[in-house]
Formats: sequence, structure tokens, C-alpha cells
Amino acid sequence: MPAHDFDLFVIGAGSGGVRAARVAAAHGARVAIAEEHRVGGTCVIRGCVPKKMMAYAAHLASDLFHSPTLGVDAEGLNLDWSALRSSLAREVSRLEAIYRANLERSEVKFLPGRASIVSPHEVKLASGEVYSASKILIAVGAWPIIPQIPGAELGITSNEIFSLARLPETLVVLGGGYIALEFASIFRALGSNVTLVNRSDTFLRSHDAEVVRRLLTSLSDKGVKIVAGATFEKITRIGADSLDVQLSNGDHISCSTVLHAAGRLPKTGDLGLAKAGIAVDTKGAICVDEVNRTSCETIFAIGDVTNRIQLTPVAIREGQAFADRCFGNGASAINYENVPSAVFTNPPLAAVGLTEEQAAAKFGPVTIYTSDFRPMKNVLLDVPERAFYKLVVHPGTDQVIGLHMLGPESPEILQAAAIAVNGGMKKADFDATMALHPSMAEELVLMK
Ligand code: NDP
Repeated sequence: MPAHDFDLFVIGAGSGGVRAARVAAAHGARVAIAEEHRVGGTCVIRGCVPKKMMAYAAHLASDLFHSPTLGVDAEGLNLDWSALRSSLAREVSRLEAIYRANLERSEVKFLPGRASIVSPHEVKLASGEVYSASKILIAVGAWPIIPQIPGAELGITSNEIFSLARLPETLVVLGGGYIALEFASIFRALGSNVTLVNRSDTFLRSHDAEVVRRLLTSLSDKGVKIVAGATFEKITRIGADSLDVQLSNGDHISCSTVLHAAGRLPKTGDLGLAKAGIAVDTKGAICVDEVNRTSCETIFAIGDVTNRIQLTPVAIREGQAFADRCFGNGASAINYENVPSAVFTNPPLAAVGLTEEQAAAKFGPVTIYTSDFRPMKNVLLDVPERAFYKLVVHPGTDQVIGLHMLGPESPEILQAAAIAVNGGMKKADFDATMALHPSMAEELVLMK
């Protein structure tokens, strides 16, 4: 008789948890996974996937606005919000079904309901059932922060934004990070009047300041009102469809919808971590070592719940490495440097490696190459907006240590260029690469 019900019990069926469960099962482990919401987690159910679909709608709307220049008649252009919402819901359900089928095919036992830790080897479901496992993996992700202000409950978070009854006429967004900027941009393009309120004048803190400044100018040119140096003081209902947002600078904004996008915190409350002596940091994030082990020998944690890099591909890599290491033939270390990321605004911003500021702080003066150009697409569509690319180069070695792009398709272009940056290629290698013409990406090899 095995000592435990399972070899591995995973709490949380998001991207990281599902990957770990399936890989461990493929290695021959007896695996269970518990999930309190829908299978797929933040990325599939209420994040990357539905957001990307909305971003496509927003891009399409703005392209069609300019399409008469190319002879495409977009007369009567109209957004059917409920059709978009239904498509989002359908796609999310399709993916969730695939995730569930994959778990079933991998012979991972799916247990619905919230699970919490009872001891270093035991997990209890909300239904009261207790299961034992040789190892436990916590992959419960993070959850939006709701500011502690009067009327905060009148606002929504990114969890609810995909199922709004109608397109907000006026949207006020709190925050200056990924979620705030993406939704401000998307909803503006779809036709909402949008105001973005950020507590400081620093937006997208981890990104290159010059590139972010250009993005803000572009959003502002498109009609997003930007208020820096203020937060929400109070939200009051003033009508059936109308809210009043009182800001810390004394101003009031009337709107139909308020979006809280002031960050996400690890979802560790009620997880019973203390019962297994699992240490957390001041934000409630589970502290882990380089192999994702918590302060309890038998319990591991991956993804957003560790609050290191809150990105889906990072959680997936961690899940894979955990399963290979504990149930397979070992795993190579994860490279947390040169993690590419993108902000799906219009224009999108994409980056890999060090910003100009980070590089200067680390190496002293660095060499910067930039290209400020009007992409051919914009020239041909008669759109004045310019794109901006920046290469950060180590002055001693000529190695490209940072790449920052603002312009159409920049996330798609950057993923390929990130291979070169991660591979340690030099500016001379970029220069020696023939341009692909006519393209926007050719600017990458033409910077002087
Ligand atoms: P971010 O950490 O990106 O941004 C949070 C923003 O809220 C910051 O501007 C922050 O300001 C501000 N803020 C924090 N606390 C308060 C407060 N008490 N009052 C007012 N403002 C506050 O968080 P998001 O929620 O936008 O996204 C969470 C994470 O999810 C991201 O970090 C990212 O890793 C991931 N994500 C990735 C996406 C992508 O890859 N495209 C898309 C969406 C999310 P300050 O800078 O001053 O702290």
C-alpha cells in the first residue's frame, strides 16, 4: 500500500499547476489537482486570452477607421458589445474544455473546490474531504487588490471586465501598470471615454522610461485622459448608471464604470500555510528557494503566488521544471534573465533585457541606439503615429543587453529578437544581418 493517497497534490489548476500535474503524471506519478473556480486560471479564464481577444477587436476598430485610405469601405462601422462578449465567453469555454480533457487524458484526478493545507502531507477540500500526498504544490496565483476606500465595491476588477452588460460610456481606471494601460487603451479604441488615474507620474515602472513616455503620449493623442499623482478617495453612486469618483487631488469624475487595476497580490489567505510552517513575505507571497521549495520540505510553490515575475510562461516553466525534477530525470535551472514581456496597448510595447536606466545603474554609461520612425503601415494608412525602437548596448563588449519596442506588432517581432538578446548577440551581429524589406522589423538591423 502506498503511504499516501497521491504522489503529488496540486492546489490550483491554472497554467503552472496544470503543466506540473500533467508532466508529473506523464512521469508516472499519481496526481490530484484541486481548483475552486474554472480550470485554466487567470491567463485562460480572466486574463491573457480574453484580453488579447478584446485587444484584437480594438486594433481592428482603429484599422478600419483608417481603411478608406486603402479603398476599404467601412461605412457604418459599429461595435456589437454583446457579440464580442459572447465570443470571449465561447473561446474561454473552449479552452477550459481542452484543459479539462488534457487533465483527464493525463489521468490526473480533478477535485473541484477550494483546498487548504492541513499538514506537510495533507490537504483538505472545502467539502471536508482530506487527502494525503507525498508532495504538495501550491499554484493558486494572485488576485486583484481592491483599494480600502469608501465605495470601492462599486468598482470592478479585470476579473469582471469581460462580462460587463454593456460597453462603458465612461471608464475611470486606477493604476499605471500592465492592466490599467491595456484596458485604458482597449476601451478607448472601442469607443469609451477613458480616464487613467495613477498615484505617481511613473507608469509601467519596470519598463524603459523613454519608451513609456512615448506610449503615454500616444494614448493621450488617442483621447485617454491621464491624471498622474492622484488616487481614488471615494466612489459614490449618483445614478442608476452613474458613479462619482472623488480623487485625492480634490477633483471629481463622473463615470459609468470604475476599474481597479492597482496590482495583484498572491492569493494565500485561508490556505492554511501556517499549519505546515510555510513562510510568506510582507505581501503574503510564498517564499521559495531556487527549486521552488517552501520552508516546508514537502511543499512547493510556483507562479504568481510566489510574486516574483507574474507572467504565464514563467509559471509554466516553473511547473515543468518542478515536475521533471521531482518525478522525472531532473530539470535544468530556469533563466529568469531576459524574460520578454509586452503591454498589449495600441500601439503595443514590448521589451527584453535591461532598460537604459537599469543598464546605466549596473554598468555605468551604456551605448544607446534608437530609431524613431513612421512604420510603413502608418504611412500607407495615413496615420501620423510614429514607432520607437531602442537598443541598449554594453559599451565594453558591444553585447545587446536590452531591446525596447513601441509600435505595431512589436510583441510578435520582439519574441524573435529576444532569442538574439538572450543568446548574447552583439550590436555588430544585428548590423551584419540583412534587412527584410519592406517591414517595420528591419529597423532592428538598421540602427546607427
Ligand atoms: P502592476 O504591478 O503592473 O501595476 C500596478 C499599478 O498600480 C502600478 O502603477 C502601481 O503603482 C499602482 N498601485 C499599486 N498600489 C496602489 C495603490 N494602493 N493605490 C494606487 N495605485 C497603486 O499590476 P497590474 O495589476 O497591472 O498587473 C499585475 C501583474 O500581472 C503585472 O505586474 C504583470 O506581471 C501581469 N500582467 C501581465 C500582462 C502582460 O504580460 N501583458 C497583462 C496584465 C498583467 P506603483 O508603480 O507606484 O507601485
